[in-house]
Amino acid sequence: MYAYLKIFGMILPMKKFKFILLIISFLPTLFFAKSISLQEEAFAFGNGELAILEFEKDSIDKLLDNNRSLRFVAHPTNDKMKIVFYPISYYKTSNINLEMLVKDSKFPLALNVKPKEYKKEILKVEASKATPSEEISKRIKAEAEEAGKIYSIVTNQRYWDSPFIFPMESEITSGYGNARVFNGVVKSYHAGTDFRAPIGSSVYSTNRGKVVLAKDRYLAGLSVVLDHGEGIYSCYFHLSQTDLQVGDIVEKGELIGLSGNSGRVTGPHLHFSIVINGTAVNAVHAIGAINALFH
Ligand SMILES: [Zn+2]
Repeated sequence: MYAYLKIFGMILPMKKFKFILLIISFLPTLFFAKSISLQEEAFAFGNGELAILEFEKDSIDKLLDNNRSLRFVAHPTNDKMKIVFYPISYYKTSNINLEMLVKDSKFPLALNVKPKEYKKEILKVEASKATPSEEISKRIKAEAEEAGKIYSIVTNQRYWDSPFIFPMESEITSGYGNARVFNGVVKSYHAGTDFRAPIGSSVYSTNRGKVVLAKDRYLAGLSVVLDHGEGIYSCYFHLSQTDLQVGDIVEKGELIGLSGNSGRVTGPHLHFSIVINGTAVNAVHAIGAINALFH
């Protein structure tokens, strides 16, 4: 289910009510058929999901998040609308209060966040990898910082103009959001989607983008990260092989490399993730939400 917020014009100061607005469209539209009272629920976004906020171009001047102005980007198929990609962090479990700035007046816009019930996953790995040495810890930290720096960059250019695809057709063996318990200790949550993939399976680009990282890393193994522009990144980890180099432009569906079992893994698979504005979101949900803009 993708909850969408669509706002068309009509933000009018009123006597009693601050404003009237909001024509909300839900996908699937099935929700309309069921009952209007489902609105609240359909409106709710889950933590770890990508909220896409659509505004008629002239309806709003700025959208503020704690006084920080959020970035409007072009709607991929409707030039009357502008959109904001608002990734909701895994750790965000309370409502998000935004403000719309319209001709010097501010109006509240609350995003209802309904925490998802993510699973706990018990994993057993070599003790040396679960509690790494000081030297390894340094490497892990440096690699995390390098990645964080990359994800924080918002490229103005949009590299893609068509729907996103999955990097392979295979069974998902571990979804986004599972809490990872390594040797009895909760270490993190799963920020990606794992696909069943014997070593050597072809991995394809989810959409057109530019290679911004292609190297071997301690946890993620041989990794490729693509910048799709406007803060959207896709990541392909634990590969056995890639010929890509930083700076390469990759077309949608182009071969990224071959899957493998490099890095910290319990077995061969492809770990695929999408990071938007520095926040890792559920890639399956995010792809669905972005692609729905093309319907
Ligand atoms: Zn994974």
